[in-house]
Amino acid sequence: MVDNKEPPVNNGNAMPAVVAYFSMEVGLDTSIPTYGGGLGMLAGDSLRGGADLGIPIVGISLLHRKGYFHQHLDAQGNQTESPVEWDPKTCLEPLDTRASITIEGRQVWIRPWRFLIRSATENEVPVYLLDTALPENSPFDQTLTDYLYGGDDHYRLCQEAILGLGGVAMLRALGYNDVETYHMNEGHSALLTIALLREESARSGLPPTERQVMERVGDECVFTTHTPVPAGMDRFPMQLARQILGEETTALMTECGCLHFDTLNMIALGLFFSRYINGVSMRHGEISTNMFPSYPINSVTNGVHAATWTSEPFRRLYDSHIPEWRYDNLYLRYSINIPLDDIYQAHIEAKQELLREVERRSGVRLNPSIMTLGFARRMTTYKRADMLFSDLERLRKIAREVGPFQIIYSGKAHPRDEGGKVLIRKIFQAAAALKDTVTVVYLEEYDMNLAMHLCAGVDLWLNTPKQPEEASGTSGMKAALNGVPSLSILDGWWVEGHIEGVTGWAIGDSKQDVSITSEINSLYDKLEHVIIPMFYHQQRTYSQSMRYAIALNGSYFNAQRMMFQYLEHAYMPSH
Ligand SMILES: *Cc1c(COP(=O)(O)O)cnc(C)c1O
Repeated sequence: MVDNKEPPVNNGNAMPAVVAYFSMEVGLDTSIPTYGGGLGMLAGDSLRGGADLGIPIVGISLLHRKGYFHQHLDAQGNQTESPVEWDPKTCLEPLDTRASITIEGRQVWIRPWRFLIRSATENEVPVYLLDTALPENSPFDQTLTDYLYGGDDHYRLCQEAILGLGGVAMLRALGYNDVETYHMNEGHSALLTIALLREESARSGLPPTERQVMERVGDECVFTTHTPVPAGMDRFPMQLARQILGEETTALMTECGCLHFDTLNMIALGLFFSRYINGVSMRHGEISTNMFPSYPINSVTNGVHAATWTSEPFRRLYDSHIPEWRYDNLYLRYSINIPLDDIYQAHIEAKQELLREVERRSGVRLNPSIMTLGFARRMTTYKRADMLFSDLERLRKIAREVGPFQIIYSGKAHPRDEGGKVLIRKIFQAAAALKDTVTVVYLEEYDMNLAMHLCAGVDLWLNTPKQPEEASGTSGMKAALNGVPSLSILDGWWVEGHIEGVTGWAIGDSKQDVSITSEINSLYDKLEHVIIPMFYHQQRTYSQSMRYAIALNGSYFNAQRMMFQYLEHAYMPSH
């Protein structure tokens, strides 16, 4: 007789545990504005990579009905913002399932919208975006899943309650009762540990503060940190936590000892309950070990989803030379045998597509035969987007005497990030000052679609973060998949991916106390003496570095390798 209550038969060790992946933002598709930058793109790529490998994983995030924001730039580069209006019905499926949690003593109902990721291998990964815009909720509660990173601390903690507590409640309502690993992508979802603690307490009949209850929860949790600086941490005053989560919850957290100097620090909470913790590059793992000395911190270097971030011309190229590449990205290694002329031709096509997109968006017609540099990411101080413009006279001289170049910029600054907004204005000022010698274009509205065009179509990808603040960085990996070498500060993933003159070039060296003056000199020296001369006079050598970028970096810094490592190190601990 079949007992329906029995869990499905575990056919040996072939299938790993079921994983629930929690993230405040997730990049699923260009038409779904539920991401703000790298953290969300990584979440999307992780789930897509999980689908490729057939990992039984589900994603949990919020619906963000008003998205991140639309960016508007005036002629001086002043940024203003407006809410994104999008219709979830056009790309997501609303489900009838409901779950609820308590916020400030009110019952708040949540509905899931489902997005299905389908891999080339026909595996499906469902992603549930939580939504509180239901008539049974108060007008305020209906707005709680509107804005990604909008509102004040109060709004943010309510959102984090929906993500963490609501996410677990929703998994149960959907029938996911056998989840074995809860993966927190950053601290925003760390309240899920409290939901698990309550469940485990109810199941065992023991108080939630009992050692074995806490240990059982700890066995289920995995935490990935992306924060290389303490200032980046998400924390809330106790008073606010008490108000939103209730006295009982804060008392429970106090008793468990998971509060941090009497504040609710979401990273500290996540770390406290996790059996496995990792940073997102080897270097970031070391930095995090110094930041959180009481925890063992591992490293799983980020990767990007190859089939998503490879441009059409390179997809065709790989399909004809190494057809297995979509199913197993390791095969990109064999791009080492693709003729250089074919690589060059595919790149020319990707570049033409990018220049068409630039003209469509900005009206500026760039010259396809001129070396084109790309810089696009979230505009925030540590990314130092203006570093290239430190010495305009030297830049003009390089353009006149060594070879012409043009630069495409893009990126949004968070509405409250004044430093980021200043950077955008500085780029506009530099663009105006350089306009007779170097064309600089700044494209509004950096998003997934634009990132695909940009990372694939430029000749050189530039990255100038302040060390050691680039936990990983991922856009250089997208570029590598399209044969675009990087010129970058040796931080994050580039410490691992850089081979000088082979996969690209380093700015300065990897010493953290390096002076900004020497970094700037190194940046100009490399452009002047190495990269621009090679681009114009040794085209085959340049194409060779493009090919190495694919064979050495595209084959490794991808989401399949990353998820395989999560599987081995984080999801299957007894393995
Ligand atoms: C890849 C990507 C990012 C992250 O880029 P980093 O190099 O990691 O800073 C941000 N925004 C968008 C739209 C992206 O596609």
